[in-house]
Amino acid sequence: MKMYYNKDVDANVLKNKTVAVIGYGSQGLAQSRNMADSGLNVVVGLRKNGNSWKAASDAGMDVMSVEDAAEQGDVVHVLIPDEIQGKVYETSIKDKLEEGNTISFSHGYNIHYGYIKPAENINITMIAPKGPGSMVRQQYLEGFGVPGLVAVERDATGDALKIALAMGQGAGLTKAGVLETTFKEETETDLFGEQAVLCGGVTGLINAGFQTLVEAGYQPEIAYFETCHEMKLIVDLIYKKGFGNMWHDVSNTAEFGGLAIRDRIVTDETRKEMKQVLKEIQTGEFTKEFATENNAGAPMLNSLRRIEDDLQIEKVGAKLRKACGLQKED
Ligand code: NDP
Ligand code: MG
Ligand code: MG
Repeated sequence: MKMYYNKDVDANVLKNKTVAVIGYGSQGLAQSRNMADSGLNVVVGLRKNGNSWKAASDAGMDVMSVEDAAEQGDVVHVLIPDEIQGKVYETSIKDKLEEGNTISFSHGYNIHYGYIKPAENINITMIAPKGPGSMVRQQYLEGFGVPGLVAVERDATGDALKIALAMGQGAGLTKAGVLETTFKEETETDLFGEQAVLCGGVTGLINAGFQTLVEAGYQPEIAYFETCHEMKLIVDLIYKKGFGNMWHDVSNTAEFGGLAIRDRIVTDETRKEMKQVLKEIQTGEFTKEFATENNAGAPMLNSLRRIEDDLQIEKVGAKLRKACGLQKED
């Protein structure tokens, strides 16, 4: 394991350089503002008719078209949604990159699967926070940082890693620690995590538990508290000090029941399916399906979103969170 901290960073490498952050969404806002507050020369590249332009200007950022930003940037840090990066790269970034420039990402998707293929004389780097943009900004303002990943896919200038680490320091990541990885490892593990464990796995588990209780005749509100609300409390205990800390904090009844029963929930069949999901990520099958989906205008995603919106747990949860003052806004 190779971990980098502030002491390992040579900030001078970006001293006379401009970092062009493309996009001002979750990551673009957080990273561009952290880097600017850290003293880096930052410009923000956006489309003129979009919503972000005014937000970035109001925040005092130096906003311009994607083409102009890519032209000015010695480093072009691409923080727009993964599924449109390839197109925007072709139309607005590719021709503006010059020998010795760096193209940088916070997710390896488009490089790893070959949707973006920069010329041989361009550095290809990654600096990726392990946390959503809101947390990247908030932790920075509080004087901390979220941990991150760094990777170099191509080192054309000999100092690509230094450049990526200096960006990581600007974003506040090297304060917590930045772990070295590769584009392949970051991309494949990130996709697997969000599908099987985090976004997909957790909501699937919560909802299956909720539906089991409701179908058995228990109050939906009780089912929500038990399967959804308490999830955060348990995960917080694990996040802070590991599984052992959680087992220590819950009752002996919960500890025995949890340890003895869990292999009946996550079964050999589940593990087998996890391996299959990982395989489809590694072969590029998932990526191909997502590209087809996007080319068709995202019909499947839109219908899945409607089904998700209609889930009973979503309606019960919204009502209950308001009644308990846990959710203040819609
Ligand atoms: P967002 O969906 O938040 O990005 C939205 C931004 O992209 C907006 O500023 C939007 O501007 C801009 N944008 C959209 N389309 C275009 C376009 N055609 N031309 C110019 N700008 C455009 O992205 P994320 O921050 O979620 O993700 C960015 C990258 O970071 C991805 O690679 C992602 O995988 C990675 N990442 C994201 C994390 C997260 O927490 N979200 C965590 C770690 C990595 P407008 O207002 O004009 O539409
Ligand atoms: Mg991801
Ligand atoms: Mg309990």
